[in-house]
Amino acid sequence: MKIILYGPPGSGKGTQADLISKIFNIKKISSGDLLRIEIKNKSDIGIKIQKIINMGILIPDEIILGLIKKNIKNINDYLLDGFPRTLKQAIFLSKSKINVNYIINIIISDEIILNRIKYRLIHENSGRSYNTLYNPPKITNKDDITGENLIKRNDDNEKTIKLRLNDYKKYTYPILNWYKNNSDIKLININGNENIKTIFENIKKNIAQNER
Ligand code: AMP
Repeated sequence: MKIILYGPPGSGKGTQADLISKIFNIKKISSGDLLRIEIKNKSDIGIKIQKIINMGILIPDEIILGLIKKNIKNINDYLLDGFPRTLKQAIFLSKSKINVNYIINIIISDEIILNRIKYRLIHENSGRSYNTLYNPPKITNKDDITGENLIKRNDDNEKTIKLRLNDYKKYTYPILNWYKNNSDIKLININGNENIKTIFENIKKNIAQNER
């Protein structure tokens, strides 16, 4: 199974990506997580992109494409989270014969996103995300699995999120249209204003219907 998970920043994509990859036993490849690991490791790429991420703007395609290429090698079933984000990235996937069966598109209001982002915490190494109001960790500020500290992302603030939402709107719709016109990928629209469990049930139901 090869899935692209779409949705604006703060739509609960990361949480759903973890649930989907677990139940269908497929590898989650999150471009945002890969970038944050580079920053944490202070690699050449990490040093170059830190400021760009904190400003809430997109990283140059060449950097992302290199990271994805490296991480998707020899993997048959995957869920792409946060990638492709531009038309150039989508065309790269297609030209590289990195196939996709489904696009899951989470649709959610800006108002709910702003509210969710305020309370979001993440576990840096795995990308697991929590929300202190709606999806709190079992122990305050600690990751459920490793017990390590949770952090607030530098780019999770109102000013940056507005820029990220603008970028999302500018680049995403052309990508969805491109897929509609250039492939037989199945597009599944999901209402992201629901709670985590309901969104996940709807995603599973839709995939099951299509797999029949
Ligand atoms: P995310 O964790 O998906 O919200 O991504 C966090 C930030 O990483 C974004 O605001 C961008 O600056 C950068 N980023 C992640 N994925 C991509 C991508 N596919 N193309 C360009 N920039 C990206």
